[in-house]
Amino acid sequence: MLKQFTVKTNSRCQMIDVTGEVRSILREAGYTSGVCQVYVPHTTAGITINENADPDVPRDILATLERLVPLHGNYRHSEGNSDAHVKASLMGFSQTVFFENGTLILGTWQSVFFCEFDGPRTRSFFVKLIPTS
Ligand code: ZN
Repeated sequence: MLKQFTVKTNSRCQMIDVTGEVRSILREAGYTSGVCQVYVPHTTAGITINENADPDVPRDILATLERLVPLHGNYRHSEGNSDAHVKASLMGFSQTVFFENGTLILGTWQSVFFCEFDGPRTRSFFVKLIPTS
């Protein structure tokens, strides 16, 4: 089962918790056990898994990425969004989460985040469920 989700971002750099969307497709599919792949088909947005219990964690991640890869730098790419390409590659474009007993196997504090680095835009991501039993 493959499902595409739309996400509207509202700032240039932003981490949006999409765990609920991922859980919703798993509920819809009714699979018990397997692998869930979350994929972002963009070059300036990514996907990561990290803590969402403390909102300071995603804030610190974004602030650190900004410090490491500033908007303006010695870049050659003519679109002016080289930092976004680099930040997206650092986060990566897919994540894998196992599910068992119809539940995503995420740690207590873990969430799946869509990571925008060249917003605001309307974006999308895909969730693929691969049942193994
Ligand atoms: Zn570009």
